[in-house]
Amino acid sequence: MAKNAPAKKVPAKKDAAEELQDFFEDGLKDIYWAEKALVKALPKMQKNASAPNLKTAIESHLNETKGHVTRLEEVFKLIAKKAVAAKCDAMDGLLKESESILEETQPGAVRDAGIIAASQKVEHYEIATYGTLATFASQLGHKDAAKLLTDTLREEKNCDTLLSKLAKSEINIKAK
Ligand code: FE
Ligand code: FE
Repeated sequence: MAKNAPAKKVPAKKDAAEELQDFFEDGLKDIYWAEKALVKALPKMQKNASAPNLKTAIESHLNETKGHVTRLEEVFKLIAKKAVAAKCDAMDGLLKESESILEETQPGAVRDAGIIAASQKVEHYEIATYGTLATFASQLGHKDAAKLLTDTLREEKNCDTLLSKLAKSEINIKAK
């Protein structure tokens, strides 16, 4: 087996964050891009779902997601920064994976199980992101921003819980 190259310290780019505030702002730009991408992607997931309960769950989370975009715009305003989106490679990858799950499953319960699996990966990514950003915000003294980020975090967690319930109580059973 080939030996791995020795690990190296990575040199920072010219515009690299120097302070936690900069890193916080970079994170906001990333998740702003991600939420906007979700607003575009969720209707396709909804259209491809079969179970009425799943369709409804996706539709209501699409509405919440539109609210997440607006909340982020409020957060940018609260810290006196322009709302700018920066491509989030992680969300881009997760959405590409969701697309391929659609192609790799027959419509019906199995595709529904795939849609739930893909959606929960997205929600878990959002939960991790908002958890970090809310903590940064409160440690940086942005109390109102922290509250808004925590509101969104709660909705992401609720969505994840609902998807788990749907999977366990009906979708996965039908898909077996
Ligand atoms: Fe969201
Ligand atoms: Fe979400």
